[in-house]
Order: sequence, then C-alpha cells, then structure tokens
Amino acid sequence: MTPWIIPIFLPHQGCRQRCLFCNQKMTAQHMPSPQAVRECIHDSLHHLSFPKEERKKQVAFYGGSFTSMNHEVQISYLSEVQPFISSGMIDSIRLSTRPDGLSEETLTILKGYGVKTIEVGVQSMVDDVLLRSERGHTAKDSSSAILRLKERGFEVGVHLMVGLPGDSCDQFLNSLDQIINLKPDFVRIHPTLVLKGTTMEELWKLGKYSPLTLEEAIQWLKKGVLQLEKASIPIARIGLQPTKELEENLLAGPFHPALHQLVESALFYDMAEVLLQKYLDGARAVLICHPKDLSNLKGQKNTNLITLKERFGLQDLRIEENKEVRRGSLLLKTSSEISCLDRMELADSDINRGLKRACSLREDPIVPDHPLN
Ligand code: SF4
Repeated sequence: MTPWIIPIFLPHQGCRQRCLFCNQKMTAQHMPSPQAVRECIHDSLHHLSFPKEERKKQVAFYGGSFTSMNHEVQISYLSEVQPFISSGMIDSIRLSTRPDGLSEETLTILKGYGVKTIEVGVQSMVDDVLLRSERGHTAKDSSSAILRLKERGFEVGVHLMVGLPGDSCDQFLNSLDQIINLKPDFVRIHPTLVLKGTTMEELWKLGKYSPLTLEEAIQWLKKGVLQLEKASIPIARIGLQPTKELEENLLAGPFHPALHQLVESALFYDMAEVLLQKYLDGARAVLICHPKDLSNLKGQKNTNLITLKERFGLQDLRIEENKEVRRGSLLLKTSSEISCLDRMELADSDINRGLKRACSLREDPIVPDHPLN
C-alpha cells in the first residue's frame, strides 16, 4: 500500500542553478522554518481521515535539492521529524534531490535520521539533453547516485521527463532502458511544460523550443509504460498533479490532469486496432475487457469507440466487461470467433502507428539549436 505522505515544500533550496524548465515558486512561495515543519506535521496528523495504523506515514521534503543544502540546514529539518518517528506517529522520511548531491557523508546523515526513500531527479540519461536543459549534471552522475543509494539500502525513486530540449522518443526510451537496468523501486514521469518565469518561457517565445503536443507525449509514454511493465518496475505517477498554481503558470505543453489514463486508453486503442485489423469479418463486433479496464478501453468521452467505429466502418461496436479477462488484455468477439491480445504482445509496428500519426502533425522540431545559442 502506498504510504500517506505529508509534503513539505522547500522551493529551490539547495539548487545550484536554475534548470531551464523549473519554476519552483509555483509549489510554495516561502521556505518554511524548521519549527513550521513541526507544526505542519502535527496539524496533518491531527486531521488524518483514516485510522492511524492503516497506512505507513512519511514526511516528504520536496521542491528543491534537499541534499545539496548544507548539512546543518538538512539536520535542522530532519531533527524536527525525529520526535514523531520516536513516538511511532511517522514511519520514515522521503525526499527529492539532485543526483550530484549525494555524497557518502550525506547518505550517512540521512540514514541516521530515518530517511527511507530518496527520489532522484534524473530527467534524462542523455548528456546532450541534460546540457540543453541546464541541469548541471551528467547521466553518469545519475547512475552512480542510484547504485550507491541502493547499496546503502534506500528505497529509490527516479524522476524522468519527456520532451526536454533535444530529446526524441528513441532517446527517452533509451534513457528508460538505462534506468530499468539500475532497478529503481519506482519511476515518475513528467511531461516538459512551458511555465511562466522560466528560461524555457523565453526560448518558447523566441520560437527556439516547441513542447510536445499532448498526443505526442501520450505516444512516447505508451512505449515507456510497456517497457516499465515488462521490467516490473512500478510507476508512481505519470503527469503532474493539477493545482491552481500550475494552471496559473502554465503557458504551453502537454498537460492533462489524467495523462496516465490517456496513455492507458491509447494502449487499448492499439490492441483493438490490431484485433479488428486481423479478425474483423463483418460490420459488427464486441470488445471484452476486465471491468477495471472499461473506462480505458472506451477512452475519454468514448473517443476510442467512436474512432474505431469510423476507422473500420462498423455499424455496431459493443463493449462488454468480464472479470475472467486478464487486466491489460482485450478480447474481440466477431460472428465467427473470439480472439485475444495482451498489451505485452503488441509489436513495435503496432505501437508506432500512433506515434507516426502524432508526429506527422508536427511542423517544427522540439528544439532547433542549443538553447544558449
Ligand atoms: S534541481 Fe530541481 S528544483 Fe532545482 S532548479 Fe532544477 S528542477 Fe528545479
């Protein structure tokens, strides 16, 4: 069961430079004092809406590069959580940070203060993409950090992004492959968005950066989801949490509050397309899936059904649910037979059709030059 998290935002703290796409002011306006952290934990526990023993509870320091702050500051925050850990009200601490801010000395401090989970902002494993994004670290820094964290027994989460300057779908999938080989405990994937107050805003206004369209992001992510699923690495989240601040600061880019669901729907579309192409023998068909996959099969506002009906000239395309069907699989019933396909059996060519469709609509490259040029 996923832990219940009390998030504390420390905007831009510890960041040595500003990454091209980042606007941490969006998540919190002020840096809370260590004392304010204690009050926040206390209040959050007081307002818990489920029995206290039901889920593990973690305090999470998000929003900057926690381990790149000086050790005294790190300790002042970690110390505020200790009374709650000692009394059993909080189980552990999680934090997010940069891959190049994890010295052995820092890791020893974190272990000593009950930090269990470390989310590493990797973003890409392509050095050129990292350079263009002004990340200030290399892919090697990331792999070394992940390996050392695992050696020291931390739970490791990896953050990746799609659509960074200079990125391509193949490079993103290659980054994912490298991360999979390092066996993190979970992965989060965010789309690159153009936010107010970032360098990316300036590049975008100059026509030097063009974000992915929502359809392109879905197609990249579709392949990524299958890669992670094959490797049995959990996906903690795809996309960003919709907030008022995000809405106010978003200028362009593939934001959608239910991005993961759109990706799942795109995979069901591909499966249905393959089955209908191979086995359709008339103008009527029935698609059958597990009840929990029903909304993904239909697509938002029934888009999958409407598009498939049109594409295959169907008079009638019905949907049925059946608990016996494996999650992620799809059955097609025609007048003569029943055929089945699991998403793991999708060939590259089946998945690529959607990607080609999405890319054919693009007029401009993601980024033509080095952003600093
Ligand atoms: S390291 Fe993270 S928090 Fe800091 S500027 Fe870069 S993306 Fe933002």
